[in-house]
Amino acid sequence: MHKLITFADRLDRRFELKAETGEYIHSVLSRNHIPVDAVIVRRDGDVIDDWQERIESDAEYRIEMVRAYHLPDFLSLTRLWDTELSSGDWQTRDDAYYTKRHFMHAGEGDYDSTQVSFNREEYVRYVEQLFVDGVHSKGLIASDEKVLLAVSGGKDSLALGYFLSRTAPRLPAFDLQTVHVTTFSKPPETSFAQSMAEQFGHPLTLVHDEEVQEFYGLAVSPQQALADVKYKYDPSYSIASVHSMMRCAIERTARSMGISKIAFGLMREDICTSIIKSMFVGFPFGGSYSKQQGSIEMVYPLWPIGKKELTLYLEALFPTNNKQGSPVAFERGELARDIHYMIVDTLETILPGAGFQLFEGHQRMVDNFLDLPEQKDCENCQMSFSVGSGAAAPDSTICELCIVFEKLGLLR
Ligand SMILES: [Zn+2]
Repeated sequence: MHKLITFADRLDRRFELKAETGEYIHSVLSRNHIPVDAVIVRRDGDVIDDWQERIESDAEYRIEMVRAYHLPDFLSLTRLWDTELSSGDWQTRDDAYYTKRHFMHAGEGDYDSTQVSFNREEYVRYVEQLFVDGVHSKGLIASDEKVLLAVSGGKDSLALGYFLSRTAPRLPAFDLQTVHVTTFSKPPETSFAQSMAEQFGHPLTLVHDEEVQEFYGLAVSPQQALADVKYKYDPSYSIASVHSMMRCAIERTARSMGISKIAFGLMREDICTSIIKSMFVGFPFGGSYSKQQGSIEMVYPLWPIGKKELTLYLEALFPTNNKQGSPVAFERGELARDIHYMIVDTLETILPGAGFQLFEGHQRMVDNFLDLPEQKDCENCQMSFSVGSGAAAPDSTICELCIVFEKLGLLR
């Protein structure tokens, strides 16, 4: 049964929220983007536990804000609520494909909100220019520089391929090599990486199991080593192990080619997630747009672009008519990863443009206030690592993964 619940702010303005008999009060709050710690809830005048209680048909509910700020106005401004409080003069158009919104902090002043709507063609031009501006504004790539691009064989690398080829005249003229690590990649990803290299004319180096095994001096295959990490050491360390082995393979390939700059396809949410995670665990993340890792500089040319924007870009170039590919079986990762991504996605929903602010703020901290951990190259696998991270003690000469491999007796 439908029911209307009263929401009152500290100005005693009242709003009616729709609810259903039997649903959790907590769900009503969440659905309406009301932070649960911003309110108390009364049933027939008495305060109740909004986490436990379900809506009853014959009771009167009143949600009261405990703090005075203009939540209804803000929620209306961001269109999370549909009220008269903020009709705004939002631009509308019939051929809109995507609307980019920004609530940006204007220096010392308050937030400014902007909105621009694009049709399909304008959108493609917009995202490509966003990519070009992202490379130039942060000085990620210089002319005549050698850059190694790590390709996963997924959508992100496809989009990066299109960005690079379609905007080439607007980018510095650099020498691009690509690398794909077949270890822990699925065969379709590898063949996709190969067909992309052909399509875009990028020289591609493949790194296979035997080479990865050799880089670490493993007595067993990388797959067997990973299984040992998972079952004999710590299952939650397996994803980090895969990342380390991939990064090691990419860094070793770069060095063997005399390249000291590696481009990764990290997108806005990936970087935001790393920054959020770094604050939660208290270990600094090296930089929002690029970071020096030992003798190698890592750059993230996709930094201004979100995953949804990237998906819309590919969809605008080659509409797929919503043919969902068969879902790739993926291993359930850590819960922490889900949480960090959801925080970042939610942040961007309630504050469009939050990612860019987080980047700028984080970069300012890195440049002015943070003491970044010392970088070393591992004496075993030669991969760069942060001293003091995880199991790698300050005086360790080998990286965390090599320490684990050694413990498990996997090194020759
Ligand atoms: Zn190592």
